[in-house]
Amino acid sequence: MPRASGKAEAETVVLEGAGLKPDPAEVFRYLGYPKDAPVEPRVAQRVEQALEKLLPEIRPRAMYRIYPVLRSSAHRLELPGAVFTGRIGEFLGEAQRAAIFLATAGTEIVAAAEAAMQGRDFLGGLVCHAIGAALAEAMVARTIEHLRGQLGAGEALTLPYSPGYCGIPLEQQRTLFGLLDASLVGVQLLPTMIMRPLKTISGLIGIGPEDRVRAYGNPCDRCPLVDCQMRR
Ligand code: SF4
Repeated sequence: MPRASGKAEAETVVLEGAGLKPDPAEVFRYLGYPKDAPVEPRVAQRVEQALEKLLPEIRPRAMYRIYPVLRSSAHRLELPGAVFTGRIGEFLGEAQRAAIFLATAGTEIVAAAEAAMQGRDFLGGLVCHAIGAALAEAMVARTIEHLRGQLGAGEALTLPYSPGYCGIPLEQQRTLFGLLDASLVGVQLLPTMIMRPLKTISGLIGIGPEDRVRAYGNPCDRCPLVDCQMRR
């Protein structure tokens, strides 16, 4: 549906994650432990040691830029200079603006994981990968928190949606990267659509009237993909 132009487009915002500590429960979840399952002491100890050693060295970052939504339908979302296709039109259909974001754990944690693997310290490598994934998630949470501070009266945020999930084709990464200067946070999109550093999350978050965003609810509650790892 066509939209009024709404608020002016914001400038790019870059967020630093220095001092950010990932939730250990999330690290254990990425290591394959179900919620509330007991964690082997040797694994818990390795996570604690890795966090202590690596947190002062790593540099997680995030960026976002808000665009007005020009038009949307169930399978289309049009922003100035970019069109997303797939179910994103349904998920962000109530949004009048959309924040395009990147959140990365940075290169250091990926390098630590690779060094551990090359040294045949497989548990150490897995722990670093899990910390990296949890850090990228923590930077998404920081992005959401920052975006909440940008909301006008009566506005709310949708959940974040990423290309490759929720019926948004992975190829839409190209569209997303066309809307941001990813070099500001040291992120690259490879021809395979994989991002470098590996522990990076890209996506869109809608901003719309609180009552309509709430009424739409959580699409995961209606989604048939029961095994989806991104289920919220
Ligand atoms: S379960 Fe949720 S996150 Fe996963 S594809 Fe469905 S809507 Fe998307």
